[in-house]
Amino acid sequence: MGYNPYNGYSGKERDEKEAERAHLLQSGHLQLRHTECELCGDPDTPTKAHVEDYSKPYLWEPPAEYMVCDTCANDMLQKRFRNKDRWDSFKAHVRRGGYARDLQDPATNKEFLDYREARERGEKPTLRILRDRQLTGNEWWEKLSIDSNTLTDPKARPRP
Ligand SMILES: [Zn+2]
Repeated sequence: MGYNPYNGYSGKERDEKEAERAHLLQSGHLQLRHTECELCGDPDTPTKAHVEDYSKPYLWEPPAEYMVCDTCANDMLQKRFRNKDRWDSFKAHVRRGGYARDLQDPATNKEFLDYREARERGEKPTLRILRDRQLTGNEWWEKLSIDSNTLTDPKARPRP
């Protein structure tokens, strides 16, 4: 599969957990968790595991890993190190009850881009509320690092 390092885990360690996942799913010893996207909250989208913790013994549930939609996984979580402002704006979008897929709507996407540009100008823009979402501010995605040093730093591992 050829993963890059993440949270201080090597690509090889990441591959090993994914290989074990595939094995356990196939043998029926692990069930896929069917949930809403555990980042944006979209209840009606395919999800896959976003893994924060590849340490052994393997854990298959939060806080070791979260089920997230493709856009949250591929477009937001993975790219947050390279595009920190976009990640910050996306979190604001999620806090206002936005699903990742809402950004496919042209009007909502334009509002999001305008919001990002206003932030870049140093303004303090707001986004209109899309859905009532009960959040504490302590959600797992609020606390993720955007420091690319954590990709390879063993101290970034949640467990040894
Ligand atoms: Zn999502």
